[in-house]
Amino acid sequence: MLSVENLHAGYGDAEVLFGIDLQVEKGEVVAIVGSNGAGKTTLLRALSGIIQPTQGHVRLLGEDVTGMHTHNLVEKGLVMVPEGRRLFPRMSVRRNLEIAAYSSRARPHLAEQLREVYELFPILQERSDQLGGTLSGGQQQMVAIARGLVATPEVLMLDEVSLGLAPVMISRVYEAIRAIRDTGVTLVLVEQNVSQALSVADRAYVIQHGQVALSGSGKELQDNEEVRRVYLGLG
Ligand code: ATP
Repeated sequence: MLSVENLHAGYGDAEVLFGIDLQVEKGEVVAIVGSNGAGKTTLLRALSGIIQPTQGHVRLLGEDVTGMHTHNLVEKGLVMVPEGRRLFPRMSVRRNLEIAAYSSRARPHLAEQLREVYELFPILQERSDQLGGTLSGGQQQMVAIARGLVATPEVLMLDEVSLGLAPVMISRVYEAIRAIRDTGVTLVLVEQNVSQALSVADRAYVIQHGQVALSGSGKELQDNEEVRRVYLGLG
């Protein structure tokens, strides 16, 4: 579904990613974990066309999409939900969702997608006329995920969905992630909440200093000594 080969990227002269290789198969949940500053967000930015890779290849459904701009990638179904939610605070929930269907891929499916996201997050239907900025952090995260879904993704990439949320809200968001997976959407999760991410992931990659340090099934990494010590804070 998504294949990344020897990807290098960074900001100006500062290289952050030094040859990332990874594979995401159709219908999988793949987690990308690692310490602060390891390059996880930079990887998602390079995959979603916000920054341009300096070397390497990205393939989506077999097509080379390296260096393609974000709007073209969204048309092809590669969609990212950025860290920090980024709602339009003075627009209603409904309007925030509607404008996420701007691509010609998504526009014809708006009504159906709205029904689906309201089913997934009933609170958003109740709050559909409320301004985005007046929602709780957890509800704003639901809108952010819902916007990603309204874009009709093949692959949905979520950056730090649990950041700053209360534990009960994190569980709610992860329930939604499982439900989204069950609809057949392929998911890439970038997370500092390693234990949640590994519990839902089919496979995971640990990024260190801009490279893949370890990879395996979610279960293998949960059982891995080093991962338990460094990322899960367990003996
Ligand atoms: P975090 O979870 O803390 O965001 P991360 O693994 O996602 O960590 P990145 O945000 O990708 O890490 O950052 C990797 C490196 O790139 C860091 O050294 C960071 O300082 C640098 N960096 C990130 N964004 C920029 C930017 N816009 N300009 C310059 N350097 C940046």
